[in-house]
Amino acid sequence: MSKSLRFNALDTILYREKKVVNTPSTRISEYFGSHVFTRKVMQQYLSAKLYKQFVKTIDSGKSLDRDLADHIADAMYNWAISMGVTHYAHWFQPLTGRTAEKHDSFFTLDDDGSPIEKFSGDALVQQEPDGSSFPGGGLRTTFEARGYTAWDTTSPAFVLEVENEKTLCIPTIFVTYGGQSLDYKLPLLKSVSYLENVAVKVCQLFDENINKVYATLGWEQEYFLIDEALFYARPDLQFTGRTVLGRRAPKGQQMEDHYFGSIPERVYAYMRDLEVECHKLGIPVRTRHNEVAPSQYELAPQYEELNVAVDHNQLLMDLMDRVARRHKLAVLLHEKPFAGVNGSGKHNNWSLATNTGVNLLSPGSDPSNNLLFLTFFVNTIQAVHNYGDLLRASIASANNDHRLGANEAPPAIMSVFIGDAMTRTIEAFASDSNAGNTAKEAYQLTNMVPELEKDNTDRNRTSPFAFTGNKFEIRMVGSSSNCAGPMTVMNMIMGKQLNDFYAEVNALVDSGKDKKAAVETILKRYITENRKVRFEGDNYSNAWKIEAKSRGLNNFQTTPEALAAFVEEKSELLFTESGVLSVEELHAHYDVKLESYSLQIQIESRILAEICLNQIIPVSVRYQTELANNILSLQDLGLDEESYAAQLDMVKQLGSHINALKSLINKMRDERAAANEFGSKEKAFAYNDKVKPVMEQIREHAEELEDLVDDSEWPVAKYRELLFLK
Ligand code: ADP
Ligand code: MG
Repeated sequence: MSKSLRFNALDTILYREKKVVNTPSTRISEYFGSHVFTRKVMQQYLSAKLYKQFVKTIDSGKSLDRDLADHIADAMYNWAISMGVTHYAHWFQPLTGRTAEKHDSFFTLDDDGSPIEKFSGDALVQQEPDGSSFPGGGLRTTFEARGYTAWDTTSPAFVLEVENEKTLCIPTIFVTYGGQSLDYKLPLLKSVSYLENVAVKVCQLFDENINKVYATLGWEQEYFLIDEALFYARPDLQFTGRTVLGRRAPKGQQMEDHYFGSIPERVYAYMRDLEVECHKLGIPVRTRHNEVAPSQYELAPQYEELNVAVDHNQLLMDLMDRVARRHKLAVLLHEKPFAGVNGSGKHNNWSLATNTGVNLLSPGSDPSNNLLFLTFFVNTIQAVHNYGDLLRASIASANNDHRLGANEAPPAIMSVFIGDAMTRTIEAFASDSNAGNTAKEAYQLTNMVPELEKDNTDRNRTSPFAFTGNKFEIRMVGSSSNCAGPMTVMNMIMGKQLNDFYAEVNALVDSGKDKKAAVETILKRYITENRKVRFEGDNYSNAWKIEAKSRGLNNFQTTPEALAAFVEEKSELLFTESGVLSVEELHAHYDVKLESYSLQIQIESRILAEICLNQIIPVSVRYQTELANNILSLQDLGLDEESYAAQLDMVKQLGSHINALKSLINKMRDERAAANEFGSKEKAFAYNDKVKPVMEQIREHAEELEDLVDDSEWPVAKYRELLFLK
């Protein structure tokens, strides 16, 4: 019999050599952004007058005229050609979650048929990819497959290099023929300007010099790395990103020896290679370390302006895949590739900065008297208080359901952690009392190490939404998701909250109250109200679940339940009032999310059936036959039943699990067929309530078989092999 993929993979890995990485010998600052069409490069390729005109147009949020676009296209083309680029692509973010690009060549034939290279303003500004293969939630009828991509002038173009092929990538939004959003970027851009405009108005209550506010994002990307050969030996990993079955390894993460441990050499080479690629593309990655689970790692950049940070994370996920292939590794961005060990998230650190260089969420040395800080801090908590369910909905996916609420950080209940010092600060503010000492304290450990500063918030790793000193960390975002989803909602709910606040302050001022007193009155009310959503304890505990319920906080454990918040009347109002999505667009986006939920479970379920039917059952039957033959031989020798009792028992056990598998697989198929008859909402519920539980049962029987069958025959790569090869 030919060897299974599992054993081929294990052989391959045994002789795998570490890839040598030739990192540049210069300092990072010398090649950082070398593949980006930055403002500095633009200055080299444009006249001073045109450059000024462009910057003025962008910074004032106006749209670009076609004449100027032609000049920019020229500049971009000349720069790209000097780098050896042959093609250009509009790079966009459809609702599938990853990025898409359609490549066109600079090469063309001119009017008299002579070959030339050119790039026009029209090609830069707008393209028409066939949109019909991207999810549109019913916004696009099939006879109207047209979609447009349009240049996002706020995110710089870049050159992507794949195996010496170089492509100029232009970040774009993606809309239907009728101009409706089919992507993540357009709503994000709208939410950013909605928030930034009102934030400026609020800032000006305190400081007339503030005329621009920027939302900032610093993400932290968690991921798993495994050997490529094993990845291809597991069709479930290949097609769904997670293992749909597999016995837990004898050693999991109980020892906690991986976290911050030394990085294995092959992984280290990968990380170095990836960092160089990131730096060339202007992604300011800085931090790398091991994560909690075996073979799990994390990468984080310096924070940036929100839209650019989102693009950089999308680009990063793409680079991670590409670079991994060079190292014969596979990156798993799935939220829960392995049962029984930690899953992966993507913390979104979010804040607001001003043109005057102030971080609006930085408490400074005297937070109690920093009314600008308190305003933004308390309003953020209030926004989550009012729209927690929408925030929960924004991070819901089939993958993330394996983390949230499923015994893993953080739970599905939305609450805000702010730490002891900040709790005392705002509570004292609300009751006009003294907060006591809330300044940063210093540790003096020994004279041999310098004095350490103690942060004014301790870490609470269990909270979904935590204040971490000068920013809020949104911790429930899934590792594979586009940050734009939750960030759009965050900006929008904060924008709405600041609008309400601003109106309330003005109403009080109009009725004769002093401005400062008006601000204080309203903040005090918010602080009292939003106690409901503040929680400082252990978010994993059962006690919290009970308390949260008594506080009236929702605990939506699954995606279909959580998504409903998108289409509540309150949300529809918010999306339309902010201009982020029309009701029609919102419903289409909601529909796409439901459909992709069902699709994900459907694929997982099919792969599970396939592995069981084509790999596990045949091997188990063969092994059962071997045992049965053994029993017959022992009987021929005249031995009594006692001498083959174990074999007999195993034959019976094998039989019962094989039977169970077969009938459960039939049942699962019937449940899928029934689910597929429904519309998108009922279908998602059916996949959740009817298909998923059968998958769990199947998994149990398959794992029992994994325990019983001869290891040298078992066809599916085991957890201990996937997770512990270095
Ligand atoms: P920690 O998680 O240890 O508190 P850092 O302060 O290094 O770590 O921040 C973690 C992430 O938060 C990084 O990606 C960092 O860039 C980001 N971050 C720091 N300050 C801000 C800010 N003002 N706005 C948005 N993100 C920020
Ligand atoms: Mg973090």
